Amino acid sequence: MSDDYDVVVVGAGPAGYPAAIRAGQNKLKVACVDEWQNTDGSYAFGGTCLNAGCIPSKALLESSELFQRAKDEFATHGIKVGEVTLDLGAMQKRRASVVKTMTNGINALFKANGVVGIQGHGKLLPGNKVLVKAADGTEKTLEAKNVILASGSTPIRLRSVPHDGKFIVDSWNALEFDTVPKRLGVIGAGVIGLELGSVWRRLGSDVVVLEALEQFLPMVDQTIAKEAQRHFKRQGLDIKLGAKVLSAAVSGNAVDVTYSDAQGEHSLQVDKLVVAVGRRPFTEGLLAEGTGVQLDERGFIKVDEHCGTSVPNVWAIGDVVRGPMLAHKGKEEGVMVADLIAGHYGEVNYKVIPSVIYTQPEIAWVGQTEEQVKASGRPYKTGSFPFAASGRARAMEAGAGMAKIVSAKDDDEVLGIHVIGPMAGELIAEAVLAMEYSASTEDIQRTIHAHPTLSEAIHEAALAVDKKAIDSINR
Ligand SMILES: Cc1cc2nc3c(=O)[nH]c(=O)nc-3n(C[C@H](O)[C@H](O)[C@H](O)COP(=O)(O)OP(=O)(O)OC[C@H]3O[C@@H](n4cnc5c(N)ncnc54)[C@H](O)[C@@H]3O)c2cc1C
Repeated sequence: MSDDYDVVVVGAGPAGYPAAIRAGQNKLKVACVDEWQNTDGSYAFGGTCLNAGCIPSKALLESSELFQRAKDEFATHGIKVGEVTLDLGAMQKRRASVVKTMTNGINALFKANGVVGIQGHGKLLPGNKVLVKAADGTEKTLEAKNVILASGSTPIRLRSVPHDGKFIVDSWNALEFDTVPKRLGVIGAGVIGLELGSVWRRLGSDVVVLEALEQFLPMVDQTIAKEAQRHFKRQGLDIKLGAKVLSAAVSGNAVDVTYSDAQGEHSLQVDKLVVAVGRRPFTEGLLAEGTGVQLDERGFIKVDEHCGTSVPNVWAIGDVVRGPMLAHKGKEEGVMVADLIAGHYGEVNYKVIPSVIYTQPEIAWVGQTEEQVKASGRPYKTGSFPFAASGRARAMEAGAGMAKIVSAKDDDEVLGIHVIGPMAGELIAEAVLAMEYSASTEDIQRTIHAHPTLSEAIHEAALAVDKKAIDSINR
């Protein structure tokens, strides 16, 4: 096969691989280059998400939740199981096998959609060419009518907390621990910090989360954030807000941490310290001199609303460009760009991107928080429904949390939907669809929801907006 392509995608994470697949579906000649190497040296498509992010974290969240439920909840259901013990080796083996199944699936999808998958490093050269250094060391230049850059992101490291990969670790290392740390420190109470903290807390660690901000989950509707904070505290997650880490140093088999808060300076010793303070765009070795592709002041590749860069026919998608660092946001950008290249319609509705935190209870939201709507000055109304009043949630022994809807007072438009509770990440799909179609609260009120389901909480929250809830007292 010649090395001329309609499209070359650099990066096969959840932004790049869907772009390549859609380009293939659009009958374009496409190659996708990716350099991801696992800790055992093997190459794999799927990027951060499949190899070291979304999928392995959800595999461990699921296993650790089952472990904790078997210990603490089965008796309530009348199930006697004797002593519940942990086989972390088996749990980690399952996590690795879930990841492998998913990453192998990309090879099959590439094949089925005519995508040439190349394992190796890609560098954009001037003139829309991509220099590829393959895993076997060979180099070749691919000519491309269009190049899509999807090089993703990498964890932010703190200078005062020197990473060593063993005691002071990042989120990837923290997914692969082979023993349960007795004392675990987590820097950052964001999505990743809370998910990883939850996994190891459920498996037996004493977890301290140090968060520099005074406010807990500032991006989340604060009614929901406060509810979450209560539950996490009850679960034993020691979340210290306003705690700025000053230093960390490995000492023997432990890590000495110092931090300051309103009360002064404190020290803490943990067995492992996870740094989960966010991610930054990754463009190292991606752009040769003179390509003309511009980065912004934070290192993101500059793009317009259709993900076009400053160079014609060079596009950029996913974590390496502005917007939330989420797999599904990158996927939609990839599909949009591949459709635009083929001359089809393509658009991403950035106003309606759902977010999920896969803790217990789960947290999910779409649209604006009540605080954002209030700040906008638009008159609004809210309604909520507690899962404690949901028959299905009660049957599942999962009555914690609520669904909340924020709607415009003038035309009844739904402005934001926020859920904390069982399967919130699944329930939010209805909210996203409603908002994508500019639904009013009344539209949701008049939509029949099956009984008994968790989704009735969204229905009842919509009714509660107009004080018409049936299964809870209207306030
Ligand atoms: C622990 C954790 C949990 C997460 N959980 C979720 C979640 O539940 N839901 C969610 O939506 N998001 C989650 N995320 C975020 C999600 O992983 C990212 O938003 C997503 O992976 C970004 O996709 P991407 O394709 O832009 O980049 P990446 O997934 O980072 O993929 C980029 C790929 O490009 C390759 N690459 C980079 N440069 C080159 C080059 N020059 N040549 C060749 N290849 C190159 C990289 O090796 C990598 O394979 C999580 C992240 C972490 C760390």
